[in-house]
Amino acid sequence: MIIIGAGIAGLSLGWQLARRGLPPTVIDAGTIGQGASHAAAGYLQPGLDPSPVTDLEWTSLRATPGFIADLQSETGLDVDFRTDGLLRIGYAGDEAQITADHDARRAAGWQVELMDGAAARALGPGLSPEITIACWLREVSWVDGRKLCAALATAIRARGGQVLENRAALEVTSENGRVTGVNTAQGPMPASRVALAAGHAFDRIAGLPADLPASRPVRGVILTLGMPAPLFTRLIKRPDGILCPRSDGRLIVGVTRVEGDMRDYPDAASVRALLDSAIRATPALADLPLIEAVHGFRPFLPGDQLLFGASDSLAGLYLSMGHGADGYLRMAEVSRRLAEMILTPQTT
Ligand SMILES: Cc1cc2nc3c(=O)[nH]c(=O)nc-3n(C[C@H](O)[C@H](O)[C@H](O)COP(=O)(O)OP(=O)(O)OC[C@H]3O[C@@H](n4cnc5c(N)ncnc54)[C@H](O)[C@@H]3O)c2cc1C
Repeated sequence: MIIIGAGIAGLSLGWQLARRGLPPTVIDAGTIGQGASHAAAGYLQPGLDPSPVTDLEWTSLRATPGFIADLQSETGLDVDFRTDGLLRIGYAGDEAQITADHDARRAAGWQVELMDGAAARALGPGLSPEITIACWLREVSWVDGRKLCAALATAIRARGGQVLENRAALEVTSENGRVTGVNTAQGPMPASRVALAAGHAFDRIAGLPADLPASRPVRGVILTLGMPAPLFTRLIKRPDGILCPRSDGRLIVGVTRVEGDMRDYPDAASVRALLDSAIRATPALADLPLIEAVHGFRPFLPGDQLLFGASDSLAGLYLSMGHGADGYLRMAEVSRRLAEMILTPQTT
């Protein structure tokens, strides 16, 4: 079994398979978790509109603490999973929108709490006096995606699987409608089953069925500041971004979202906009060191579809695609379901 792509989709699948007795070989064109998974803030907030994907997201959110506890105990690695909830803040003029969002979430069964600016500042003393309203979404959690990807790779290897870096898949090979393996830059790798988890770049791989949807990358820029003393412990959602504190003192400042922008670097205008907005929410951030600016391409598909399961047109090919802006949120449940499908193939 070969999995193409060592992002959160490929690695979570790889661990689920390894735990069930099928340790795979995961290959990546670069390094572990270097794609969108590297850029992500890693917060887990299900959608609000009722849909099968929203149901899957809630199932996944509820499964995540167990998934992470098992991974941490198996590897001895801490992935900084935090469950203090998200504080959605607003300024003068945002009250109606935040109140309506609170009411809609409460009606949908969320644990939410509306508060004024003073109550928000009691939860996060660094927050600006400009903040007039906030809503605490208690169920939102977050994780350090880079640590999570590294721990998953460790767990796969410990269970007898391989995670091979700098091993680009050039082609999925097949004979008589069945997968036979993967051609890589280093030569052919035979396999009777291949899972495609290559993020937004899957369409550069030859030999894939013609009926796959088109890739629709959505670029995001995200920053890291150094926060020597915690200014808040919750995830803060600003009108135009998020502030995501890590336990090691890093503060993630996100995030832009532009479709059709394939610039392969974090641009200065995005950095400025993120910093302006973050400093408005928490003025003390202006003094903190800027540690990093990175970008990534969220792997969307047309119509925001999430696609996982067996390919309809190539036996032995499995798909894990379209994780969009929610790959970490969905990983626990998508990887579990896909691993079950691979281990219990449908006979039609
Ligand atoms: C700025 C930003 C912020 C985000 N914030 C969040 C968040 O807070 N919460 C959340 O849930 N999600 C978030 N996301 C979305 C999340 O990062 C993605 O949904 C998730 O990382 C997708 O995982 P993936 O494994 O499908 O893709 P990727 O992480 O892109 O992994 C694909 C891997 O495949 C490899 N690959 C590609 N082509 C080949 C090839 N030919 N051969 C071998 N390997 C190949 C790549 O090198 C890469 O490592 C964010 C994304 C961005 C960009």
